Amino acid sequence: MSWFVEQLHKHARQQLSIDEVLYEGRTDFQDLIVFRNGTFGRVMALDGAVQLTEADEFAYHEMMSHVPLFAHGSAKDVLIIGGGDGGLLREVLRHPVERVTEVELDAGVVEATKRHMPFICGDAFEDPRTDLVIGDGARYVAETDNRFDVILVDSTDPVGPGEVLFSRGFYADCKRCLKPGGVLVTQNGVPFMQGEELRKSVGHFRELFTDAACYLVSVPTYVNGDMALGWASLDPALRQVDAGTLRARYEAAGLKTRYYNPEIHVASFALPNYIKDLIR
Ligand code: SAM
Repeated sequence: MSWFVEQLHKHARQQLSIDEVLYEGRTDFQDLIVFRNGTFGRVMALDGAVQLTEADEFAYHEMMSHVPLFAHGSAKDVLIIGGGDGGLLREVLRHPVERVTEVELDAGVVEATKRHMPFICGDAFEDPRTDLVIGDGARYVAETDNRFDVILVDSTDPVGPGEVLFSRGFYADCKRCLKPGGVLVTQNGVPFMQGEELRKSVGHFRELFTDAACYLVSVPTYVNGDMALGWASLDPALRQVDAGTLRARYEAAGLKTRYYNPEIHVASFALPNYIKDLIR
């Protein structure tokens, strides 16, 4: 049996058996592999880092989309940076939004997931509300005149093309692109292993936004502890929406979800002390 080895850290690594390679190659920007694993189903990795698996993608995509969208309550315009697999887009489109702009750097990721993991995006890229832009997300927010209720940064880790998506300048441009009362949510890694990354991002949020925080989601293939999603908003009340209000919105939307529910929404903002200390 051969093994996929994810070596993100000097002293720890994750290994997944490769039961069958479905695609392996280089896009214009990154090394991309899609393989089958007995526990996680189809797995996609970029530059050696697992991006998503068939079995557990629901946890990440539901929490990255439904927490800000139900907290906002009436989002019409949503911007996704990255997320070329379309899983996050799929979840956002379950809300009554008018337009979702997705800016993905690498057309190769969109093509590979459509071909080898088509159940992730379904027909989300064909939805008339979707506007897919192939380009650099940092450049897009620096230049666009469009304004958004919710911005979701579904990025790779801060190495290679994703690095710019963790910079203060990028967050400042995101703030410029938010409508009043808007919210920005970011992929911020596993704090136990990548604490510095979270500390820096939330530090920038605090300087730029009215409310700065993070919330947690447990994703089995993002190993070594809970994963953090950064939260930066212009309206502190968005983080305080109570479970009753969220339940009314959730039931009105009629969504069936596997990870998200209004109680986990509220609880996900409760942080263990080691993470509170990191972002203090
Ligand atoms: N949705 C996923 C999950 O479940 O974790 C994985 C993240 S998604 C595949 C990350 C995407 O960010 C990749 O497709 C990558 O090409 C994209 N990306 C990296 N840097 C970018 C940039 N500067 N602008 C836009 N997209 C970028």
